[in-house]
Amino acid sequence: MWRRGEKVLEIESGTNCILDGFNGKLYLNPLVEEIASAEELHEEVERQLNADFADRLSPADTTDGHNVEVFANVNRVADAVKAIEYGAEGVGLMRTEFLFLESGKTPTEDEQYEVYRDMAKALNGAPLTIRTLDIGGDKQVPHLDLPKEDNSFLGIRGIRLCFARPDLFLPQLRAVYRAAKEVNVRIMFPMISTVEDVEQVLEITEKVRAELNAPKIEIGIMVEVPSAVLLAEHLAKLVDFFSIGTNDLTQYTLAMDRVHPQLAKQADALNPAVLRMVDLTVKAATKEGKWVAVCGGAASDTKGASILVGLGVKELSVTVPTIPTIKAHFRKTSLTDLQALAQKALACRTAAEVRAL
Ligand code: PEP
Ligand code: MG
Repeated sequence: MWRRGEKVLEIESGTNCILDGFNGKLYLNPLVEEIASAEELHEEVERQLNADFADRLSPADTTDGHNVEVFANVNRVADAVKAIEYGAEGVGLMRTEFLFLESGKTPTEDEQYEVYRDMAKALNGAPLTIRTLDIGGDKQVPHLDLPKEDNSFLGIRGIRLCFARPDLFLPQLRAVYRAAKEVNVRIMFPMISTVEDVEQVLEITEKVRAELNAPKIEIGIMVEVPSAVLLAEHLAKLVDFFSIGTNDLTQYTLAMDRVHPQLAKQADALNPAVLRMVDLTVKAATKEGKWVAVCGGAASDTKGASILVGLGVKELSVTVPTIPTIKAHFRKTSLTDLQALAQKALACRTAAEVRAL
């Protein structure tokens, strides 16, 4: 027997159970033989994780010689240290809003500069991709006391808040460019939905860079809104790279709140509608000679990662614990097979059909 949702709260304390983390199921009062089989699977998974970890520093080269860049998603300096230990080749997403969320106050320009510099130093020269503030939607910062919105996911979120609040945005840009004088950083902007967003942000950013006499660094945008996908050929002319945020791209493509418990199962990044969005983005970027990363959750899952690479994504930025597994996965497969898989996935009608591939 298994249960889902709020029903788990009715389970009596002390009840024996098996938690199947792969499928999100909780089995109650399992039989002795079910416990034995779960323990066996658990040991097998542990053995595989240990084997992958032992090989974590080798590159993720496919059997036909294609290199998949495996980067990490991090929030703090300690995460960056751990990312390198787990075999990351850089950081593809630093969510800077956590500096605001965790300290309970707005970090100063100096404090931010120190974090960015120290984090990049921990990467020993590998790139640190700093995403500017993505506040709003699911990331609310109580001490900023921002006005309540009826639909915060469609409101003053991400880059829109940065435009509205130069008192927050300019110190952050200055901190990034001060760090850029010493260490290897890239910058990227969240929630871009129009060409005007990019033109405006580039103008502001260039002004800050010039004032500080800082070097030019790679500038990217998050592609996580359907309009950015449809405008990708224009946006690609303006920036150096795209990083696809599959968490939001899934939410906005399927019109399903990403934190809604009842929609969690359907809000699947492997829905062919989302995969077609990724495909359009990669094609538009490639036409302009630009590269594409994915930093949303789909990159941290071997099924999602396979299709993304098959669609032409160059860099995967994944959660730190999954780095060794993702790298090991690509060493066992060929790019040709991944490309064939991706084409089949694009032709599917449902996420379940994609997963069945
Ligand atoms: C995403 O939307 O996929 C993403 C990586 O950004 P966040 O989860 O921080 O919104
Ligand atoms: Mg996002």
